[in-house]
Amino acid sequence: MSTTQLKTVGFKPNERNIFFHILTACNLSCRHCYINPAQHGTTMVSRQTMDDWLRLFHDPDKESNVIFLGGEPTMHPDLAHGIKTARALGYQSITVDTNGFLFHDLLSRISPDDAVLSFSLDGPSAEVNDPIRGEGVFATCTENIKKAAAMGFSISLIYTVSKMNLEQLAQMPKLLAKLKVERFFIQVIGLRGKSVQHGNNLQLTPEEWLTAIPQTAENAAALGIDVTFPKVFLDKDEKFECAGNVADNYFIFPNGRVYRCPLCEDYPLNSMRIENNQLLTNEGLTEDKLFTLEIPEGCVMNKLLQPGNITYDDSGHPQHRISCCLLKQKISPISTNQKTL
Ligand code: SF4
Ligand code: SF4
Repeated sequence: MSTTQLKTVGFKPNERNIFFHILTACNLSCRHCYINPAQHGTTMVSRQTMDDWLRLFHDPDKESNVIFLGGEPTMHPDLAHGIKTARALGYQSITVDTNGFLFHDLLSRISPDDAVLSFSLDGPSAEVNDPIRGEGVFATCTENIKKAAAMGFSISLIYTVSKMNLEQLAQMPKLLAKLKVERFFIQVIGLRGKSVQHGNNLQLTPEEWLTAIPQTAENAAALGIDVTFPKVFLDKDEKFECAGNVADNYFIFPNGRVYRCPLCEDYPLNSMRIENNQLLTNEGLTEDKLFTLEIPEGCVMNKLLQPGNITYDDSGHPQHRISCCLLKQKISPISTNQKTL
């Protein structure tokens, strides 16, 4: 028998997280895709650049973690090579965020010790998932999850919650247990990339988020799955912190743009860029100038980009402060034995 434990995961200054978009191309065309070719180009990094940039961002004095992203990163013919390079450089954890198609025979080119595979699925059935992610995607993705789990890979799953699939979120824990998924990331839909075209129509209200998400997370954890989801709404006594000021995160794109905040990615606000394998700081109005602003609503970028998720009381004060989008809550299963220790 197991029970669960909820905690907010604070930012760790001794940890460095590299979100490495190795290409922007994808075989799918999801309705909420956040990739923005106008800002991030249509190229893929070369094998040499992949190695160089992995080396550039690895910090031996910190726990360095890399997440390979796209587009669809498995479409890059050198992804397996990049994973091995990251391992040799000493990255502590290596994750591949995939839509489940696993191109270039990835499973046979890396071993379960090399990387965690993080699959994206937006519904517990084809009827819910496929109108969002594309026809036949549910079948391919779940098939490959089963295959990877049978080979011993550690599997995570990301579910981006929106009005399109909120109701069916509660059915996910059962499916995850059946698929042998170890970690479940519930993601909130943001107004980025293609989602912007839908206006506020896809985003959840605070009530919807606070009612549905913690309960499903709890249910999944009770089945033995580690669950992570964004905090979004800070409690009254919780401190607001901007990851841009206190954490060491880098969101890297193939055109050399480097952001510290994912909410800024639709704009040329990147505070850094890579040129000739050197990390350079940009001048002018860049994201880091916004990180220092203190407002009663919490996150400045949220207030600028998606003010619709902030509500105010009669005296004009925000009812909830919005946390940094990178602040997570985690619910983990704990065994009865651990509890009584
Ligand atoms: S799989 Fe990812 S990159 Fe591809 S279309 Fe969907 S959201 Fe965009
Ligand atoms: S989401 Fe908001 S709080 Fe987080 S890094 Fe960006 S600007 Fe800062």
